[in-house]
Formats: sequence, C-alpha cells, structure tokens
Amino acid sequence: MADASHRYKVGDIEVTVLSDGFRNVPVDGNYLSNATADDLQKALAAAGQPIDKMKNTYSPIVLKTSGKTVLFDTGNGQTASDQSKGERGTLNANLAAAGIDRSKIDVVVISHFHADHVNGLLMPDNSRAFPNAEIKVPEVEWKFWMDDGEMSRASKGRMTELFANNRRVFDAALKRQVTPYAWKKEVVPGVMAIGTPGHSIGHTSYMVESGGKKMFVQSDVCNNVAVFAPYPDWHGFFDQDPPQAAATRRKVYDLLVAEKLPVQGYHFPFPSLGRIEKQGNGYKVVPMSSL
Ligand SMILES: [Zn+2]
Repeated sequence: MADASHRYKVGDIEVTVLSDGFRNVPVDGNYLSNATADDLQKALAAAGQPIDKMKNTYSPIVLKTSGKTVLFDTGNGQTASDQSKGERGTLNANLAAAGIDRSKIDVVVISHFHADHVNGLLMPDNSRAFPNAEIKVPEVEWKFWMDDGEMSRASKGRMTELFANNRRVFDAALKRQVTPYAWKKEVVPGVMAIGTPGHSIGHTSYMVESGGKKMFVQSDVCNNVAVFAPYPDWHGFFDQDPPQAAATRRKVYDLLVAEKLPVQGYHFPFPSLGRIEKQGNGYKVVPMSSL
C-alpha cells in the first residue's frame, strides 16, 4: 500500500509512523449522539471529504529513544489483516518494510484498551506479536477493564464487547503479564504519560521531549479531524464518557494552540502529524511531515 511508513525526529528521538490501514465508517445517525447525520454530512462536505462514508485510518508509531525501540499502540492485528485482505492490520507488514524487526521491539506502550489499539498485541494463534517486549498499560485503564464488578455492570453492546475483547487479549492470551504505568510520570525515556480521559476512562496521551524539541502524541483525543476539530463538542459513539471527552479535547487543543506544539494523532490522515489552530468556535489541524 502507498502509505507505509514515515520518519522524522524530535531532537534525538527518531519517530517512525507506520500505517495500520483503514476502515470505511458509514455516515449515519449512529455516529454522533448530539448532532444529526445531516450535521455530520455538512461537516464532511465543508472539509472536502466524501459524505457517504468516512475513512478511519490507524497510525501507530515507533520511537527510538535512549537505545530502546518502543511501539505506541499496536493497530488492529494480523487477524484483521488476514480477514480484511490487507485493508487494515498492516502494522506488522509495514514494520518489516521499514526495517523494524518485531522481535527487537523492547517496549510496547498502550494508550487505551480499544480493539484498534490492542488487538495487534497478538498473532492469529494467540502468540505474542512482540515476543520480547515489555507491555506497558495505563494503570487506570488496567484497573477498570480487569475489574469483575465493572464488567458485570457494563451496558450491553459496545461496553460488554470491549470487556470481552480485553479479557481475551490480556487475560486469556497474555496471562496479565503487563506493567501498569502512572500518569504524570515518564513511561519510557523522554516520554511523559498524560491522562486525557473521556474517550475511555484511562485514555492516555504523551509528551515527547528531546534536545529542546517537544511533540504531543494525542492518541484518540480527537478521532476524525474533519468532524471533531471544527466541532469539538460533538459526542462520538466511541467515547465512553462523551462530555468528558469533549472537555478533554478543548483542554488539550487549547494547550497545543497556546504552546504551538506539534501533535501526532492516531486517527489523523497519514503521516498523522500536524499542528492545531483555532478556527471559529473550534479548531483545525494543519498537516505537517516533520517538526
Ligand atoms: Zn482508536
């Protein structure tokens, strides 16, 4: 596929953005809970996007920092690649194409426990995709999804499906062999974990800092930039606590505007790097390819 990998530097830290492909999401009344399908179509049209379907892209990153190779989020996984005939789940193929050996990844850092971020931890036979990596997970996220009481109270549908998927990945396959990490602390050298809850209870972003340069890894603070940058207060179906997700979006984007910080966005169009500008009552993301 065309969008395979892209490299740039934050000071001494090398960033490689890797495409995990895409999924076409239907434009309908299920996508937003506080705006209509018509509102959604108007936002897409204003951004010059197709209005019949949205392309949701996935872009994990690898950081080389202090001699360690660190993968942030793992994409949809090899099983999804096989099932979608390479439409998504392409991380492993693109790592190989970029000359990064999966077995030499030292640390995998997970931002939150949604399938498009954690399913790539496993191969189709349930073996580890990154056999020699320590797997670091946000402690808030870990506590919530592994809590049997929370699981028993989960609303039927998306939440019960997420619990089932997380128990399949982390409990059945990985035998809970993970290292929980705290917010406001370094998760790997040069990378601070920052709590950005709402999309999920323990959703985490990161500040990467080296040689006087900074870059913010937002994970899923904003999903589709054509929709949630101009309309940050809209509630997506994928947000666990939609009002909190919207408040987090504004707080983070106000900070990125004020400090003129570049941002790497997991669901931004490849190579998923940009800067945020104020626009009307919302924001826009101006694409970049390096700092
Ligand atoms: Zn996501």
